[in-house]
This record gives sequence, structure tokens and C-alpha cells, in this order.
Amino acid sequence: MTSTLKGIIILDRDGVINEMVIDPEFGTIDSPLHPSQVKIFPGVPTALKAIEAMGYALFIASNQPAAAKGKTTRKNLEAAHAEILAQSQSAGATIRKSFICWHRAEDACECRKPRVALLQSALEQVPGIPLQTSWMVGDGIVDIAAGQTLGLRTAFIGPKKCDQCAILSRQQLHPTAHIASLEEFSEFLKTFALRTNDATRKSTTAWN
Ligand SMILES: [Mg+2]
Ligand SMILES: [Zn+2]
Repeated sequence: MTSTLKGIIILDRDGVINEMVIDPEFGTIDSPLHPSQVKIFPGVPTALKAIEAMGYALFIASNQPAAAKGKTTRKNLEAAHAEILAQSQSAGATIRKSFICWHRAEDACECRKPRVALLQSALEQVPGIPLQTSWMVGDGIVDIAAGQTLGLRTAFIGPKKCDQCAILSRQQLHPTAHIASLEEFSEFLKTFALRTNDATRKSTTAWN
């Protein structure tokens, strides 16, 4: 199996696979704290299936500090994650494994993105997989930072009007691609290999 893989794709979860949860009363935006709050973006199950069919193994790397912050329980977070997995795999794709950091920033753990331990754990699942054809896909600065540190390609998922792009460039972070959604990423990936024969790592924008 491994020999037929082009690479692995490590997905951030919230904001890529599932929507963030907005609490209008408190004006907060957070990860789903309970399975009932899970809402995956339309097109995600088929996009994952298509990406897998192109020869990539799928993993998740996600920071989930809400239980450590006392906002919910670890059990609720695990149930929410199980719900996200079930819904996102509903078109037949397999997310091989999820790597989750349960800590808060102040816990100074080894795993919280932008640190790279979660991504390294995913890479270790497929020994010998080439880094330069593997991707970190995320909607956060920390996702791009972690992916870039390891020499992965990076896809920054977010709207064209990009609040975070100034921060990215200030931090010398240069996503390989800046794309609106995971669904569009799967389309982008189909032609990406053909366009990368020039071997440049310049930022590419694909909106259509
Ligand atoms: Mg995210
Ligand atoms: Zn951690």
C-alpha cells in the first residue's frame, strides 16, 4: 500500500473539516464542545474521498484545549471528534488516525501546534513517505508554521479577504497554496502535480 502513496495529508480539523461554533450570547467562537454542535462543511466527505483516491493517506492533527480550560469535558470532546470522523468519512474515505493535543498553551506541552509532534506522529504512520509531496492543510497560522517547519507543503484554508495573511508574511510563513475550502483543495490537488515540475515553492493562489 505504502509504495502506491503519493504522500500524506495532515488535516487541521476545526475550520477545515467542521465549522467553528459561534455563541451569539457570549460572542465567542470555539471548537464544538459537544457532538450536538458538530456541523461539517458541505462537500467535505466527497473531497476526502477524492483526495484519498489521488493517492494520499489522510490524518488529522488538532489542538483541543477546551476541556483543559474547563469549558467542557474530555468525554464530550472525544464524542464530538467521533461524530466529526463519522460524518467526514461518510462518502467512504478513511481518516487513518487522529492526533490531538488536549493541552492549553500555558501547559507548554510538546504536542500543541505550532509544535510539530502531532504532525511527526502522523508521518511516522507511513514510514518513508516523502515530505515534499505531503501536505499540512489548515486555517490557522499554527498549522502553516508546523507544516513549514517540517518541510511539508502547506495549504492555508481561508477566505480570499485574508485577515491572517499579514501575520503569515510577518512570520515568514509562505503557504504553498491559499484556498477557500477543503472541497476546493481537492480540485486544486488534481492539477497541482502537473504544475509543480518547475519545483518552485512559490505561493500559489487558487480560487476557482
Ligand atoms: Mg483550525
Ligand atoms: Zn499538547
